[in-house]
Amino acid sequence: MELYGYLLNFEELLPRIKAEHPGLAAIGLQFPDGMRDYATKIGEVVQRETGALPVLSADPCYGACDLCDDEMAKLGITVMIHFGHSPMPSVKTDFGVQVYYVPAHSIHSIEEVVTEACKTMKGPRVGVTTTAQHVHKLDVAERILREHGLEPVTMLGDKRTALRGQLLGCNVLAAVKCDVDEFIFIGSGDFHPLALALETEKRITAADPYTNTVRTLTEAKGRILKQRWAAIGRAKEAKTFGIVVSTKAGQMRFNLAKKVLKQLHEHGKEGYIIQNKQISPETLLYFRHLDALVGVACPRVPIDDQPRYKQPFLTPQELEIVLGIRPAEHYVFDEFSADAN
Ligand code: SF4
Repeated sequence: MELYGYLLNFEELLPRIKAEHPGLAAIGLQFPDGMRDYATKIGEVVQRETGALPVLSADPCYGACDLCDDEMAKLGITVMIHFGHSPMPSVKTDFGVQVYYVPAHSIHSIEEVVTEACKTMKGPRVGVTTTAQHVHKLDVAERILREHGLEPVTMLGDKRTALRGQLLGCNVLAAVKCDVDEFIFIGSGDFHPLALALETEKRITAADPYTNTVRTLTEAKGRILKQRWAAIGRAKEAKTFGIVVSTKAGQMRFNLAKKVLKQLHEHGKEGYIIQNKQISPETLLYFRHLDALVGVACPRVPIDDQPRYKQPFLTPQELEIVLGIRPAEHYVFDEFSADAN
């Protein structure tokens, strides 16, 4: 099925689900925001082809880190389809629900924008990165780079990503593992390449197939770093901290939360662990009396959402700078690796 410029190859999955789960009574369907507009239409196809009653999740979903298997399990559902993201192999599904993934593959051509990007890169070795939406076009990008005298390099990250060259907003190991002179990112928006920009000093050329524009991340990185150093500076006065831990399957780092609490106590600060599945200024409103927050869930919540919070909202690495555990010379991105817990 083609939906607003993306191919969802779920029809071919349905006979397999029917064969593997004969007599399946109900099936959970989870979608990222935006794709949920088509949930009822997709649900009709799933019911027709599998005979199972579709149960459509309406909760927000921002990635494969954010499975609703626990919610489906409470309804007695044992099989679900997660749409829009590729699998996150390191995520444990502890509730006995079998999860099938249907990634969304963009049908946009990348040839024109990658060709333009090649004219601005010197190389010679270029790390090629993208998101799950364009990863099926990686070989096209590599061919175009070679035609321009550049040497493309792609790597598989750790078990938080499933695909060669794939970046997440919290994990850029597929890029970091590449021994290269510079990077190209193929995709839209700043979310993914900004994570790489915060992790590396190397030049990143972002090639957006939707707008056919080529840009660097210099301005976005500078703006975010200014905000981060301001938050770190403000937190130096803080005495009380909330450590925000999520119960989303792929965002749980409770051991890290306990480590942060210990660090705070060792430095004479007060700390409180706060469980919050869907972190937002509204859910944390009643912790406004705390001087600062530390996020140990999705690392992009403190980094991207700081302007929405009154308190400084830090990553664990930023807190270490505040406490003097880590030197303030270099900014260190909160890389969420597959073995984090
Ligand atoms: S950046 Fe955040 S939402 Fe995206 S995969 Fe990582 S933890 Fe999940």
